[in-house]
Amino acid sequence: PAAGGDAALEIGNIGFSYPDQPQPAVTDLSLRVDAGEHIAILGHTGSGKSTLLQLLTRAWDVDRGQILLNGRPLTLWSEPALRAMMSVVPQRVHIFNATLRDNLLLGAPKADDARLDSMLARMGLDKLREKEGLDAWLGEGGRQLSGGEQRRIGIARALLHDAPLLLLDEPTEGLDAATERRILDVLHQLGRGKTVIIITHRLQGLDMMDKIYVMDKGGIAEQGTHPAL
Ligand code: ATP
Ligand code: MG
Repeated sequence: PAAGGDAALEIGNIGFSYPDQPQPAVTDLSLRVDAGEHIAILGHTGSGKSTLLQLLTRAWDVDRGQILLNGRPLTLWSEPALRAMMSVVPQRVHIFNATLRDNLLLGAPKADDARLDSMLARMGLDKLREKEGLDAWLGEGGRQLSGGEQRRIGIARALLHDAPLLLLDEPTEGLDAATERRILDVLHQLGRGKTVIIITHRLQGLDMMDKIYVMDKGGIAEQGTHPAL
């Protein structure tokens, strides 16, 4: 994974429909995100936010238009090069049937225990490692963990990956207000110099974002800065 480097996105008139779906999930969407910019994407359920993220990570490819990363179409990036550019926290974080350490190392295979410990502390997950430490077995799907713990492991994994583009799909959903504030502060600190896109339903933390976009029916309906919206 490449630490450092810039990531700028130019999304031009993209459209996308899921297979066998009559309605497109994203239509005629254009968005430019400059290197180092922090933006939030809001919008009702089903407006296409997660789909946009899927298109940015190439889980799916656009049907129309194009996405440029640092001026180069996403389709021309090799998969490893693309992975090195992005850290992603999906809407549903997957916890593997493995130790806490191995679940974190997915983001940064070479990180030492001290680095993992300090990231867990930042995430407010110290309690998780009190009993069995980094060797604690998490179980398939993270059965023994709360939803908020699973999500924070996903954020820790992404931050350890340390890529120039950070994509987060509702990272603080289900967290209490104090924990949410703490996580947003960490994201803001560690996201400095990186390009950050946060999808959220929550209004807390929007004051820290450079720009806010609202999606509706697969497109960008509004844009502005807090509290202008
Ligand atoms: P939420 O706030 O609930 O997470 P969202 O804005 O992320 O919503 P998307 O998940 O992008 O919305 O969904 C956009 C549209 O695409 C919806 O109509 C949804 O039903 C549809 N959709 C999402 N995923 C799939 C899929 N894998 N196959 C078919 N249709 C899908
Ligand atoms: Mg979603």
